[in-house]
Amino acid sequence: MLGNGMIQGLLVTARNLLRSYFDPECLTTIQYPEERRTLPENSRCFPFLVYDGTPDNLRCVACKICEQECPPQCIYIEVERDAKTGKPVRRPRVFDIDYSVCMQCQICAEVCPFDAIKMDQIYELSGTDRFGGMLMNKGALLKSNEYYHQMHPTEANEVDARLSQSKKKASPPAAKPAAAPITLQSAPPPRPTPSAPPSPSVPPTPPVPPKSDV
Ligand code: SF4
Ligand code: SF4
Repeated sequence: MLGNGMIQGLLVTARNLLRSYFDPECLTTIQYPEERRTLPENSRCFPFLVYDGTPDNLRCVACKICEQECPPQCIYIEVERDAKTGKPVRRPRVFDIDYSVCMQCQICAEVCPFDAIKMDQIYELSGTDRFGGMLMNKGALLKSNEYYHQMHPTEANEVDARLSQSKKKASPPAAKPAAAPITLQSAPPPRPTPSAPPSPSVPPTPPVPPKSDV
């Protein structure tokens, strides 16, 4: 019948509307921003840089893999250099991400070999500066490992276990204690010389009977 599907759809809507007065599961809207939903653990927004302990101890080593792999090329990194020698050191001097270009694809987090860049869940980032307001520098991107645990506890625990495992592998094995020299006192006592086994007793020869003449 013409319009049958439309009537069925309206009935479903009406049923859900009436049930929403009694069943909270049927409430599909909330009073945002006063009310907020708890985001699923795997939800993601923009990337941030993880540090352990203090912000000086960031995990990023400025390898630039994420910069090369980012599809819209919104990551910009400059390597820090030693002030005396001018040689590059394993940390970024500049680390910028343009959130206005980022498409939240998570590729940067996937390709980072050091688990240094992860995805945040903050989405309320609107501002009035349409050009520079969304350009995040290193200071704005740095967040602690504890923050990462709050965002993605399961994933962060896996990363911690993996990192501690790789640290153990990288650390040199403990030196074996030198073998103690053998002294007379510590030398084992000499073994007693085994005495010769007793010779087996020979059974007495039976007497030969005298031959009788036939
Ligand atoms: S975030 Fe990771 S992939 Fe990107 S430069 Fe730092 S260590 Fe390399
Ligand atoms: S989430 Fe995707 S688009 Fe955004 S910085 Fe990472 S790789 Fe680039």
